[in-house]
Amino acid sequence: MNTHIDHPDVVLIGSGVMSANLGALLRRLDPALRIQVYEAADELAYESSNGWNNAGTGHAGICELSYTPKREPDGTVKVQKLIDIFQEFEQSLQFWAHAVSSGMIDAPKEFINPVQHISFVKGAEEVEFLRDRHAGMAAHHFFAPMEFSTDRAKIGAWAPLLTEGRDPAEPIAATKMDDGTDVNFGVVSRKLLGWLAQQEGCGVAAGHKVVGLRRSDGDVGRGLRTPPSWDVTARELKTGAERTVRAKFVFVGAGGGSLRLLQLAGLPEAKGLGGFPIGGHWLVCDDPAIVSKHAAKVYGQNLPEAPTMAVPHLDQRILDGKKTLLFGPFAAWTTRFLHRTGSWTDLPRSVRPHNLMTLLKIGATNLPLVRYLVQQGTQSMADRMKVMHIFYPNAQAKDWKLVDGGIRVQAIKKTDGEAGIVHFGTEVLTSADKSMSALLGASPGASVSVNIVMEVVKTSFPHLLEGAAGKARIQQLIPTYGDDMRLASNAAKFADLQKRARAALQLI
Ligand SMILES: Cc1cc2nc3c(=O)[nH]c(=O)nc-3n(C[C@H](O)[C@H](O)[C@H](O)COP(=O)(O)OP(=O)(O)OC[C@H]3O[C@@H](n4cnc5c(N)ncnc54)[C@H](O)[C@@H]3O)c2cc1C
Repeated sequence: MNTHIDHPDVVLIGSGVMSANLGALLRRLDPALRIQVYEAADELAYESSNGWNNAGTGHAGICELSYTPKREPDGTVKVQKLIDIFQEFEQSLQFWAHAVSSGMIDAPKEFINPVQHISFVKGAEEVEFLRDRHAGMAAHHFFAPMEFSTDRAKIGAWAPLLTEGRDPAEPIAATKMDDGTDVNFGVVSRKLLGWLAQQEGCGVAAGHKVVGLRRSDGDVGRGLRTPPSWDVTARELKTGAERTVRAKFVFVGAGGGSLRLLQLAGLPEAKGLGGFPIGGHWLVCDDPAIVSKHAAKVYGQNLPEAPTMAVPHLDQRILDGKKTLLFGPFAAWTTRFLHRTGSWTDLPRSVRPHNLMTLLKIGATNLPLVRYLVQQGTQSMADRMKVMHIFYPNAQAKDWKLVDGGIRVQAIKKTDGEAGIVHFGTEVLTSADKSMSALLGASPGASVSVNIVMEVVKTSFPHLLEGAAGKARIQQLIPTYGDDMRLASNAAKFADLQKRARAALQLI
């Protein structure tokens, strides 16, 4: 049921995993904060965060080969990025563990489950690459339990589909960790928002699209200027009725809708920004005889010319209470920015004089990407099965069906030199006066959402984290926050906290 409050301190636009975590964290840090969430779609968290619209990988740097695309010039494989992402993902686990243990949300198995994370390669050169990558990773306490193998029988025991029917002469290798996770980001978002909606002074309204964002620079009265605020207008899509509230802080967590809202708000920081949508498809298999043979997420090497978001993987998922296999993603051409509430006009309507050149240059300087999208959009089932056979040689087309897999809007900036660059990372954009933050980009996204929104808290609500009291407050929610768990000296403390979070989430 929709709820509305007057005079919110904070408005969160969008009900995906970013807004859900930010709303819950802020309210935990300051129980007096009045928070209103507006969601355009009829249901909460059914866009990118919905289980079917992403891969559900708890990205912890364990299996994603795209985070270490190649060797350094000195021949080593640098693994620092993996260590950083592992620590960031752990913060999400800790906050969700706190949410479960404190009774904010229940039934963690409905949104998170353990699954082996495997990297898989073939060919002599890739085997050596994976061996060196493993050596670098296993030296760090985060990845110490990781196993490496070139032994077909062992890899087959980890994930039988990888080896059945494979040419015995072909060199293969894999790394495996049992500590990986499959996450339904939509379910955890709905649970956190369900909790938020029950808090006094908080409102959550679906079917309400934000159509107006007007900044008020503060009234001057008795010689004092009040801090800036935002007039946020939300339209109920069913009736057309509009309501406007004034808030001191607005979070634009609108996924593919964020660029449009930043343009509406007229933020100078958003000048020159463009958006480039890439659709996705999955191949899905529900045959229990096949599904029961694959209790893993297996990531491979990037395909030539594919963006990092399109690195293929063969995953066990738990969706709608049932185990299933997903393979993909396959990219698709689209001009929509949102799957549910978007329209084909989204891309053309996002073009402004200040981002036109950037967008044109992106097209001209990223021809391989454009070619890739055209090739992906026109490929047949047989072409898709060819990619699947890299992982699962015995796969048969009759066991798989193609389903929609959501849309990612990649941020395009002109500040990265003349050509403009398609950003595959996630970044937070904050107005100079810190009264508005927005999230752009997609990956690694949902997994590190707690770490991302804590950046928003640190920037726009620094008083909540200040001093010993602030540290104690946040460490109740995220016990490792502010401490560097990457240091060897923290290894024992980390192991203990990691175990506690996993126990609360019923992962062990
Ligand atoms: C194919 C694919 C695979 C992915 N795989 C993974 C993965 O394995 N692991 C991982 O961690 N991440 C993955 N991601 C990324 C992840 O899905 C996103 O980073 C994350 O879901 C983004 O959450 P969000 O809250 O920013 O956006 P969303 O979940 O998209 O939420 C934004 C919400 O804002 C609403 N909205 C938009 N405009 C308005 C408006 N004007 N007014 C009100 N509401 C509005 C939308 O309806 C939507 O519900 C994947 C993404 C894709 C596309």
